Amino acid sequence: MTKIMKINPVNPNKKLLNLAAEVIKKGGLVVFPTETVYGLGADAFNPEAVLKIFKVKNRPADNPLIIHISNFKQFEELIDLEKEKSNLAKLISEKLWPGPITLVVKKSGKVPSEVTGGLDTVAIRFPAHPVANLLIELSKTPIAAPSANLSGKPSPTDAKHIIDDLKGFVDIIIDSGRSIFGIESTIIDISTAVPRLLRPGPISLERLKILIPELEVPDLKSFRRPLAPGMKYRHYSPESYMVLFECKTEDKMVERVKNYLNKKNNKCIILLTTEETINLYPENSDKFKKISLGSRRKLYEVAHNLFDTIIKADSLKPDEIVVEGFREIGLGFSIMNRLFKAAHRIIKEDDEF
Ligand code: AMP
Ligand code: MG
Repeated sequence: MTKIMKINPVNPNKKLLNLAAEVIKKGGLVVFPTETVYGLGADAFNPEAVLKIFKVKNRPADNPLIIHISNFKQFEELIDLEKEKSNLAKLISEKLWPGPITLVVKKSGKVPSEVTGGLDTVAIRFPAHPVANLLIELSKTPIAAPSANLSGKPSPTDAKHIIDDLKGFVDIIIDSGRSIFGIESTIIDISTAVPRLLRPGPISLERLKILIPELEVPDLKSFRRPLAPGMKYRHYSPESYMVLFECKTEDKMVERVKNYLNKKNNKCIILLTTEETINLYPENSDKFKKISLGSRRKLYEVAHNLFDTIIKADSLKPDEIVVEGFREIGLGFSIMNRLFKAAHRIIKEDDEF
């Protein structure tokens, strides 16, 4: 039996959250909101509970989890302070936590290998969400949690994305409405000599570079291939065939999407942005439906809507979902990273179709 708990995201009900914390303490599974996406959580120090996460998600055992904390003391408990000599852990955590950034560091002996997929490093995040923070605090333990989707599916940014897939398989689903950022945390690996970006996220690369000028950013194209463990697996994908248009200039891209649609005779949903260019496309019809991701001038809005819109489009069971691409700067880089992984076909600027 799965209990669904509605909890106010700003003023969480402590009594209800105490029930969820009891479940965590007893080795159960709780789906909880964070500011990025929803997480599927278990006591990070309980290997049996952690293994349940992998089973429920059907997640490969070598795809490590992020441990969520609610204070800096827990960070010290999880990190190997002997091996982690650089002052980066302190600098970044103090500047950017709580917040949507995950640090990969050398792990302490207390972290079970089940959490890290056998690696000697661990990914840690101090989320900025009142419900997540209070749940961790009341559970009196760090909580290991990947995104609360089945492996390979889009990440859940609303409790309603989770209920169908996980009801009956977890103890509690906390429903606190929609996630704020809507894409998963930025991940940087500071366990190596030179810190490295592993996953772009809500904290833009441009901003990170100001804080960490030596940050190594692998070739942008490599973000379409595996970097962090787990990235080799298919990600974020809808059931429907999804086509992504790459974009150097927006006008040219919209023109190309329009030409592509003109040649189509099947049921298409187009995920577009709400600008003047929307009028270039055909009107909604039996064959054709436009859904907006938000405005290109407000990429936070697009990130916030991204997975929700993909899930909505997929539920209408079209033959194809066609997505307008974004320029890979600022948050556009993180949004395109998710879209590259989710799409079944990527149409580049000069590709014939
Ligand atoms: P999720 O919470 O579902 O976004 O998944 C967590 C992601 O964190 C995984 O895809 C991994 O790539 C990454 N991760 C977790 N632990 C480590 C680690 N020790 N080293 C590198 N990446 C990690
Ligand atoms: Mg995930």
